[in-house]
Parts: sequence; structure tokens; C-alpha cells
Amino acid sequence: MNTADSEIVMGVLGENGYTYTSDIADADVALLNTCSIREKAEEKIYHRLYALKFYKKKNPALVVGILGCMAERLRKELIEEKSLVDLVCGPDEYRKTPELIENALHGSRGIAVKLSRVETYDDIIPLRTEGIAAWISVMRGCDKFCTFCVVPFTRGRERSRTLASVVNEVHLLSQNGVKEITLLGQNVNSYSDEKYDFADLLAAVADVDASLRIRFTTSHPQDMSDKLIETIASRDNLCKYIHLPVQSGSDRILQKMNRTYSREHYLQLVEKIRRVNPGVAFSTDIIAGFCTETEADHAETLSLMREIRYDGAYMFKYSPREGTKSYEFGDDVPDDVKTRRLNEIIKIQQSISRELNDMLVGTTETVLVEGPSKKTKAEWFGRTDTNKVVIFNPAPADISDSVFDAPRIGEMRNVCIKNVTSATLFGELLPYN
Ligand code: SAH
Ligand code: SF4
Repeated sequence: MNTADSEIVMGVLGENGYTYTSDIADADVALLNTCSIREKAEEKIYHRLYALKFYKKKNPALVVGILGCMAERLRKELIEEKSLVDLVCGPDEYRKTPELIENALHGSRGIAVKLSRVETYDDIIPLRTEGIAAWISVMRGCDKFCTFCVVPFTRGRERSRTLASVVNEVHLLSQNGVKEITLLGQNVNSYSDEKYDFADLLAAVADVDASLRIRFTTSHPQDMSDKLIETIASRDNLCKYIHLPVQSGSDRILQKMNRTYSREHYLQLVEKIRRVNPGVAFSTDIIAGFCTETEADHAETLSLMREIRYDGAYMFKYSPREGTKSYEFGDDVPDDVKTRRLNEIIKIQQSISRELNDMLVGTTETVLVEGPSKKTKAEWFGRTDTNKVVIFNPAPADISDSVFDAPRIGEMRNVCIKNVTSATLFGELLPYN
């Protein structure tokens, strides 16, 4: 989501004559897009800011700015108390970045952190840097108010872009050679542009170009309608991969988190999605050590994981955030207990992921080729429909390159899976059929 937001900011700045450099030593302006979801994310930004001081010493005219959720949360502290930054700009004020930068270049520090009920940056063309894959934010903010979560406070109320504007953007991206699009929102299932819901949006986006792979995230388990589940099944280019954060397997904890669904509801939902979409992959988010979590609650999370058998999971220790409801509950699970529970969660997930991946050895998977692998140029990588990373040899050793159809970035190719870990599949590229 922050990558998508940074691309919007770069779009706004691009229209105002600024260009992007990946070399900080070259920059007149350095903007950090920030996340407040857990304390660790904020700590990272402080480290970055201190690192930037070095460049500011070398070039006192360098403008340093904070964008995003931390801007919303810490405003004055960043500008006044820490005096590290020249501008602070919240997630709904990105149109003001050129003005804030202009002012900063003339020596005045500025803050713009108002949240909006309507801003969706509908008309801004993001400046994308990621080749064949593109993100599109279809909605902003969140109205769910899970008790642990800072998002409703830092990103404001939920609002959606119009279906027509999203579809137009998809047309443009498809014409420009993009092969995979991910629709983004904190809770895409509650997308609504008054006339159309998320199932309508998905269908319309999928129909723009049948060769485009369409993904979406995040789905909230409460709002996943039958219509949406059936729509996902109805088109081959809608990826059969669903990120469905559960957070906990204990009803008591789910209630305390204000997640608005029960363990039973969640299990039935997964079963329904699997029935309608055979072979669908699931990932989830899990929080270890939420306020008052007992060993019995934790055991329920582990048993839910064993029952569902997620393909992957993002797993976190509970991090209290000031201003949220759960901040007032107190952070009563000791850190060593949180760490131990998190490690148990990670261990179970790794062994499940490994078992699920083991079942793919010997099968043929279709991957969207993304390019040479980051580790060794001799290997390439891509992703399956179910979002698994596949590393493959561009050609089998016994076939010379001139005969073999070398892979090209952006094409769909078949790979025979030879080997797996819990996180990655390894295989050999097959010739065109
Ligand atoms: N909108 C998405 C999640 C956005 S935040 C949803 O509702 O599923 C991404 C994940 O961060 C959450 O799913 C949750 O697991 C985690 N998270 C959010 N607040 C947290 C906190 N205070 N401590 C630890 N993890 C948190
Ligand atoms: Fe946060 Fe809950 Fe909204 Fe997700 S649905 S962003 S966890 S408040």
C-alpha cells in the first residue's frame, strides 16, 4: 500500500517538474513514506532519519520530509521536538507535497495532516517503477476499528474510487504492457462506489484483458459475500489466492479485537471458498500475545492453523498503539511469552507451508515470468497463480540455448517443479507447448 502511495506522490511531483533518483547523494529532496502499524515500523523510520542526517550535513539544502501514517501520528514531534524534518505530510494531503517542498526550499517548515472523507487521488496517474506488475488503490481508509489497529486513525474514513476510474486505469496499464494488477484496500470487500460493489469491480477489471492476472488484498472475513466468492471462480484471470487475515483462533480474543466474526464463521467461510474455488490458496495475518491472551487462547490459534492449513502467513507480536482501544486494555502478555508464542506459530506455519509445497514436486506450474532471480542471474523467477515464488533454470542443461525458447519477462511459462522449501519452489522451465 505504501509503494502504491509513493507512486501517487511521485505522480504528483512528476507533474510539477520533479524527477526521481534512486541515488540519495543526487537528491535535493528526500521523502520517507512511513508506516505506524507496529512500533518496529516506526523505529525503522527513526533509523533512516538519523542516516539522512549524514547527507543533510553534506548538503544543508537537502529537504527531508515524512509522508504517510507516522506524519499523521507524530506531526509536531517530528518537526518541532526532533527537528529532523522539514515537512510532514499525511496520507490524504499528497497533493500538497509540491507546495510543502517549495516552502521548505525557502526555509519554512510545513505540516499538512488533515484527513479527508473524499480524497481518493482518482485523477492522479501514479508514476510506476515496477515493470510488469502494478498496484491500484481502489479505496482508502478503514471504518472497522479493530481494537488493536491504528489505521482508522492514521488513514481516516473508508472511501472508494469509482469503478469507471479504476477500469480506465487498468486499460491504460494493459496497453502499457503490465501483466499483473493488484487491487488494494484495507478491506476491499466493503468497496462501494454507490452503484457497484467489489464483485462488480473485480469482474469489470478482469474483463478488460483476459491475459492480465488480477490479484486483490485485503479481504475482511466479515464482508466476503457469496457473490464475490462466485465472481472469483468465474474468471480464469482472477487469481485463486486469497489473503484472509484471521488474527486469532480464539472467539474470546476475536471479540476483544472487535473483528466481528467468530472462529466458526471463519472456518465455514474458508470451506465455502474452497468448495467454489477448488485449489485456492490462502494466506493470513496472525497476532501473538494480544491483551489477556491465555495459553488456551493461543492453543486455539495453533489448532485453527492446523485445521485451515494456510499456504502462507504474516505473523506478528502484538504491539500496543497509542490512541487505539486496546492501548487502554494494557499490554499484559510479557514479551518473552509473546516471543515464544510467535515462534510456535511460525514453526507450525513453516511446516504446513513445506508440506503443501512438497505436494507440488513433480507437477507443472504456470508462472508469470518476472525476470532474473535477485540472487543469481543464471536463474529466473516468477510467481504461480496462487502467489508462490518459483525459481527456475532458464534452460535445461542438455538443451542448447539456441534451440530452447528462452524466457521473456512478462510471459506465462510452464515450469516443472523439482524441489521446494517452505517459502519457494524450484524447477525447470519447459519448452512452449
Ligand atoms: N486491513 C487488513 C490489515 C491491515 S494491517 C485487515 O484487516 O486484515 C496488517 C496486519 O498488521 C493486520 O492484519 C494485523 O495482523 C497486523 N497488525 C495491525 N495492528 C497491529 C498491532 N497493533 N500489533 C501487531 N500487529 C498488528
Ligand atoms: Fe485495521 Fe481492522 Fe481496518 Fe484492517 S480492518 S485496517 S486491522 S481496523
